[in-house]
Amino acid sequence: MTSFRDLLNAARATIREVDTTGAARSLDERRDTVALDVREADEYEQGALAGAVHIPRGHLESHIEGRVPDRSTPLVVYCAGGTRSVFAAQTLGALGYTDVVSMAGGFNQWKNEGRPFVTPRTLSPEQRNRYHRHLLLPEVGEVGQQKLLDAKVLLLGAGGLGSPAALYLAAAGVGTIGIVDMDVVDDSNLQRQILHNVDRIGERKVDSAKKTLVALNPDVNVVAHDVRLGADNVGDLIDGYDVIVDGTDNFPTRYLVNDASLLKRIPVVHGSIFRFEGQATVFAPYVGPCYRCLIPEPPPPELAPSCAEAGVLGVLPGIVGSIQAMEAIKVILGLGEPLIGRLLAYDALEESFRTFRVNRDPECPACGPDAGEIVIAEYDQYCMPHPKVAGTGGSSAN
Ligand SMILES: [Zn+2]
Repeated sequence: MTSFRDLLNAARATIREVDTTGAARSLDERRDTVALDVREADEYEQGALAGAVHIPRGHLESHIEGRVPDRSTPLVVYCAGGTRSVFAAQTLGALGYTDVVSMAGGFNQWKNEGRPFVTPRTLSPEQRNRYHRHLLLPEVGEVGQQKLLDAKVLLLGAGGLGSPAALYLAAAGVGTIGIVDMDVVDDSNLQRQILHNVDRIGERKVDSAKKTLVALNPDVNVVAHDVRLGADNVGDLIDGYDVIVDGTDNFPTRYLVNDASLLKRIPVVHGSIFRFEGQATVFAPYVGPCYRCLIPEPPPPELAPSCAEAGVLGVLPGIVGSIQAMEAIKVILGLGEPLIGRLLAYDALEESFRTFRVNRDPECPACGPDAGEIVIAEYDQYCMPHPKVAGTGGSSAN
């Protein structure tokens, strides 16, 4: 019969151990070295090495490939006292990890020696349960969920596009959702604007939206901006947000938002719908094209009827607004390939998606190298950028 002591010694013979000084040195000297904490969640929450990847020993085999895909990554494994990390290091060797050491003495010794550590932010048990399907995705995980909870997204419009976008962003745990809308709920909205319902008819849309979102997820702080978006307030409204989800339906507002977002360097997730067709893209300031690169000037009004005039199938904004929520989350998490420099076009009748490359326009009057200083002002129907010293005459657009 093998005793625990025999098993530990046998495992120890197959791995490399370093003391805390050696561990600190490899973490300092090699930037790609990963500290791997294999303690239980309650131990980890009390304090851990800065930047450590946390995988409790019991989940090590199933989670390590997702968290540390490159098997040549230098790993410093630690637990509380240096025993569990021996077995963890042995397992990692068996899984093909080639550069693994176990830190003798563990976190307790590290802490007793006065070495630096951090107290990690962790999710509450309720949050762990609510976001469990996110936590299962190594690409999101607890770190990603914290990012979402810290994120601030501003929705322009609580209408057809804003409704599904807001619902999914709130459900995903985006911690702050600002909503700009000055309308009231009308019964003709309910065919597509699923934030609202019959009890809310006549109510401010921002208030109705807030009730729906808070009922869905109390983690979310909904900031209601019951104002008309204009040149006088756009800068203040968008300030401090990480991403803007644009659900507006008119050209002057889109140009206004574009120019202000370039100034503040806030990415805009754009969506638009028309009858049975929708489009979505992401404008990342000075990284990809901006709205003016894509649409240098608005079409004449008779060629650009609004939803109210042209009609729209109610499900369509649901699809495009959901894509906007997805893109906003990808931007927040730095996940995959957001639609930067690509325009996604959806045709509901064909049930087809196509993407088109969109390049930055070197002549762009807003983001091009020769563009003048951006001045935010109300736009007329031509929506041209204002020169620095503009004699802004009558400025009541819309
Ligand atoms: Zn541009």
